[in-house]
Amino acid sequence: MVNKEAYQSIIDELKTTGTKLVAVSKTKPVEDILELYQLGQREFGENYVQELLDKKGHLPDDILWHFIGHLQSNKVKQLIPFIHLIHGVDSYKLLEEINKQALKYGRVMDCLLQVHIAEEETKFGFDELELSYLFEEQLHELKNIRIIGLMGMSTLTDDTYKVRYEFAKLKSLFNKYSHFKAINFKLSVISMGMSGDYRLAIEEGSTMVRIGSLLFGKRG
Ligand SMILES: *Cc1c(COP(=O)(O)O)cnc(C)c1O
Repeated sequence: MVNKEAYQSIIDELKTTGTKLVAVSKTKPVEDILELYQLGQREFGENYVQELLDKKGHLPDDILWHFIGHLQSNKVKQLIPFIHLIHGVDSYKLLEEINKQALKYGRVMDCLLQVHIAEEETKFGFDELELSYLFEEQLHELKNIRIIGLMGMSTLTDDTYKVRYEFAKLKSLFNKYSHFKAINFKLSVISMGMSGDYRLAIEEGSTMVRIGSLLFGKRG
């Protein structure tokens, strides 16, 4: 069941800051996605490659699909032909594979680098040192990749001070590298904020929020 009122109020809210909405539809049926589509939503996010492929075939072609999950190298080639943006790129090895497959399909793949901002060990992502090595030493080799921004997930906690601090950290890294110039590199996107913390994320400079349960209801 789609919450149309919540969708409309989030859309109105995001308009004031120019923040983009990715509707996160993982585990939700095609009918729900179509319902939001009919209200005008075009950008959807999924976490699992097979689930995405299964749903995509039943939905309109002009949907822009975002991959927001943890991507395994061996699944990259299935996404490259159609995916709009890959959010969670968290290793050089994965970047190399995306580059290789993108070359095969003759496209330049837009990616966001996932940065580890939460204190939980389980969240994936580059740390600051890895990020600077990537930018200064490694990135120029990957001609079929375009890094257009950063993505982060905050610690799951009620401590809003901590969440705000983590988002601010991502924003400051974004600022640090926004002057960095390379042909396959131009930062414009900060993907941060989910159902529970999107307002904080926007206050801290998010340009793209990934919202699931507020729109589609809780996942089972
Ligand atoms: C599931 C998921 C979301 C959406 O989470 P909600 O709390 O349902 O809004 C956003 N980002 C990522 C990476 C996710 O895995």
